[in-house]
Amino acid sequence: MKEICSFSLKELKSWMQTVEVQAFHADQVWDWIYKKWANSFEVMTNLKKELRQLLAQEFSFPALKLLRTLASEDQETVKFLWELPDKRKVESVLILSEERRTVCVSSQVGCPAKCAFCASGKEGLIRNLSPAEIVEQVLHIDRFLHEKGERVSHIVFMGMGEPLENYEAVIQSIEILNAPHGLNISQRRITVSTVGVVEGIHRLARENVKVNLVLSLHAPNEHIRKKIIPYARKYPLEEILLAMDAYAKTTHRDITYEYTLLSGLNDNKVHAEELSTLLRNKQCTVNLIPYNPVDGLKLQRPTKEKIMEFREILEKEGINTTWRYTKGKDIQAACGQLALQP
Ligand code: SF4
Repeated sequence: MKEICSFSLKELKSWMQTVEVQAFHADQVWDWIYKKWANSFEVMTNLKKELRQLLAQEFSFPALKLLRTLASEDQETVKFLWELPDKRKVESVLILSEERRTVCVSSQVGCPAKCAFCASGKEGLIRNLSPAEIVEQVLHIDRFLHEKGERVSHIVFMGMGEPLENYEAVIQSIEILNAPHGLNISQRRITVSTVGVVEGIHRLARENVKVNLVLSLHAPNEHIRKKIIPYARKYPLEEILLAMDAYAKTTHRDITYEYTLLSGLNDNKVHAEELSTLLRNKQCTVNLIPYNPVDGLKLQRPTKEKIMEFREILEKEGINTTWRYTKGKDIQAACGQLALQP
């Protein structure tokens, strides 16, 4: 069965024509889904009963079932656990900060990258998510917010999975979420984070997808990077950085490099100096993320002094840095803490 939220408006109009239904009914369906947060065809009462029945026969909707929500103590982070049609599970996180309502979405069940500090990649990749399974994470959270008089403002592909290894589905979901008749979330408010899938980065540039691109760098050199990100062996760091530069040049978007600080592994003065050299003359920001503990991993977060020292070295070399204040640690929703659920 096809999933209705995997279809762009244009594709749904074409499908309507193939079954000899007037295309404008596709607008009505989209209106119900993305503007009125309908969760079945039944409730789409301005469509004829026969069309509603036909849609229900041909399309599945919704694809996700909400199993549980969990809010952090400060109520600024909410974790959502979804069941997929094949009973697998994924999580999304809603982060409330000042005026932003950001949804951190998963793009795969499990992750092939197996980063040393991350719970998501512990078991490797199970499967890719479909566009609908990505879109609905945002859609249902938008409904949740709507009930409180708010809307989703930003989307980050930083949940479970490597988005550029599920390229088609991720791009299709961005197109749907970005559509004026859909949730209308501009590409400027959508962030894609990658460990460095070189052909995917080039493809984004070629296809002029103007999202905020983030590279999970996490190391100042190839040797340490391979220890932290086993997947890094697939793509030489030099090639990844060249691809990032090419993306920045084509799209005129700044690049962000994420750097998870792991005590004793990548947080020394010498690492900060090496990182400054690596990123010298690049139009970029380095986002420093102190490691968030994951059950079963022996890694440690550096002290605050060490983090400040690291940051100062980069800043002195003219590299713009941010330090991500970690939200949702108490509910295992912080960066790297989303785990594969049984
Ligand atoms: S940090 Fe991201 S890329 Fe690395 S294993 Fe976790 S989900 Fe995958």
